[in-house]
Amino acid sequence: MEYELGRSFLLRAPEDAELVSFINEFAEKKGIRMGIFNVIGSLKKAKIGYFDTNEGKYTVIELNETHELIATMGNISLKDGKPFAHVHAVLGDEKGNAKGGHLVEGVIFVAEIFIQELIGEPLERKPQESGLALWDEERT
Ligand code: ZN
Repeated sequence: MEYELGRSFLLRAPEDAELVSFINEFAEKKGIRMGIFNVIGSLKKAKIGYFDTNEGKYTVIELNETHELIATMGNISLKDGKPFAHVHAVLGDEKGNAKGGHLVEGVIFVAEIFIQELIGEPLERKPQESGLALWDEERT
C-alpha cells in the first residue's frame, strides 16, 4: 500500500502507564488509523512474546526488573475497526544484555514516543489459521 505522511507526534507517556495500551488509546484519541512509531526509555516491568509457530500461540517471557527500552518499533493499523499497535522491543538489563520480542505489555518508567501518521486506505488485521491477526499479503 502507498501512503502520504500525516501528522507527526513526539511525546512522553506518563510513568506507570502500560505502553501498548497507551499507544492504542493515544491513536484512538487522535484519530490515527495508520502509522509507524518508535519508543525509547525504560520499563519497570515487561512481558515479551515469542510466537511459537507449532503451538500457534505466544510464549510469554516476564521481566520483573527495570530494563532499558533500547529500541522499540511498531505500526498502527486497524483491528476490529479500531487502531491497533503492533509493538516489538529490545530491552537491556543492568549488564547490558539484550532481550527482545513482541511487546505484550510494559509498565513505563520513561517512554519517549515518536509517532508518524500515515494517510491512505488503512490496512486491517484479520484472524489467520496461524493464530495471528495479519494484513492481506501484497500481490505484485
Ligand atoms: Zn509481533
